[in-house]
Amino acid sequence: MKTFENTVNGRLVGSARTFASKNPATGETLGLVPHSTSEQVAEAVAAARAAQPGWAARPDAERKALLMKVAEAIKANNEYLAEWVTREQGKPLGGVGPDQVPGARFEIWGCEVWTQVPASLELPVEVAFEDDTRRDEVHRKPFGVVAAIAPWNWPLLIAIWQIIPSLRAGNTVVLKPSEYTSIGTLEMVRIIAEVLPPGVLNTVSGGGDVGAALVENTDIDKIMFTGSTATGARIAATAARNLVPTTMELGGNDAAIVLPDADPKAIAMGLFWGAFLNMGQTCAAAKRLYVPDNLHDAVVAELKVLAEAMPMGNGMEPGVAIGPIQNRMQFDKVVSLVEDAKAHGATIVCGGKETGGAGNFYPITLVTGIADGSRLVDEEQFGPVLPIIRYSDVDSAIASANRLDVGLGASVWSSDIEKARTVASRIQAGTVWINQHGTIHPMVPFGGVKSSGWGVEFGIDGLKSVTQPQVISVKK
Ligand code: NAD
Repeated sequence: MKTFENTVNGRLVGSARTFASKNPATGETLGLVPHSTSEQVAEAVAAARAAQPGWAARPDAERKALLMKVAEAIKANNEYLAEWVTREQGKPLGGVGPDQVPGARFEIWGCEVWTQVPASLELPVEVAFEDDTRRDEVHRKPFGVVAAIAPWNWPLLIAIWQIIPSLRAGNTVVLKPSEYTSIGTLEMVRIIAEVLPPGVLNTVSGGGDVGAALVENTDIDKIMFTGSTATGARIAATAARNLVPTTMELGGNDAAIVLPDADPKAIAMGLFWGAFLNMGQTCAAAKRLYVPDNLHDAVVAELKVLAEAMPMGNGMEPGVAIGPIQNRMQFDKVVSLVEDAKAHGATIVCGGKETGGAGNFYPITLVTGIADGSRLVDEEQFGPVLPIIRYSDVDSAIASANRLDVGLGASVWSSDIEKARTVASRIQAGTVWINQHGTIHPMVPFGGVKSSGWGVEFGIDGLKSVTQPQVISVKK
């Protein structure tokens, strides 16, 4: 059994204690992962601290060029990394392109693109004010050492979202991947750290205790966290004590609202993948579908056809569109929410029963005859289940979308873009998509409102969020 290693100060390091990473499709152990000690966490932060001034002092063009080399290294290893994502996270290998399921190859392609884009952006000095007496310039400075903590659903891509803008801006990074999906991430960092100076990008691994040791380290200057709202609140409390700024990308429970003029056939595929991309284990997936009385049966019928046509299985096998749920904790949560809906009289249109076997397989499940207030609607189920809620007037659907304390994404589906736009503007969410859902882009800021977090990633705004402004004010 291979034991994988962390990257610290340009060297590969193991730990005396290890834990297993498991394949969610088969239950087999894939390899062993170091459980970083608190001394190792401190060493990783110290390495990042020592490397930071030299990294920040390099000309920007040099950092850009090195990050372009990082993108090349990811590309050169794309199949190796994609296979790790499938084996460890569960999403099908799939591919890029209109007819292929966005799976692990898509995730690695995303890593490449989300590296190239921040590496290409410019952060010019802004002149905030100038007259005959003074000139005030806003320069962008790195924070210093960034602690990045990632979840298990898009393990490599989300790590890249945290790492690359931070590095581009002159910060150094210590990353902790999720304990459920560490190997692929440690391997990616091993590969890309080869083209970076030692200490610029480091990893530690382990569970919440290791994450806590990292964010509690008083030599951290900025925290990038993506994960659940509950963990985010804990990290925010630590950050508040140390007065460390944070970017918080937390949980969601996205509403999708179909308007009465939508064409069920035309929107079905977009709705389906908007809800079930990565088996619904996507932060900004449609998790509650609001459908008007006149379209209810037609929309349900279209989605059912798609749900029943999608082959589920081990994502390493060609043709598989739906993989397993990544871990047992999440699997049990999905089962409990569907059982609760059943016990309260909801109708299971398809799925709704675990398939058994060693893997965490749960079929695509559509649930009707359900209302706001049901646990399946109100709690983030983060799995391959979609509750479909009937509505009679659009105002009530908007009120339903806004009644929860989260606000990551949402979508409106209509044949009339202007009508959809009006509804979109009334929804409390960081992004409201029209006739699509979850279609993020590296140039477009992404982040949540309410308990879904604060700060944004991607684009110029995302790059600015890993910098702090310094004003140079000159008397003329
Ligand atoms: P999680 O909060 O359980 O874990 C996330 C990470 O935090 C893991 O690496 C974990 O080890 C670490 N952690 C746990 N306790 C910690 C502590 N006390 N201090 C420091 N680190 C700690 O989340 P998860 O189950 O891995 O991910 C699923 C959640 O992430 C869902 O709620 C999903 O909506 C959310 N998510 C949000 C976004 C977004 O962009 N808003 C993206 C992906 C996932």
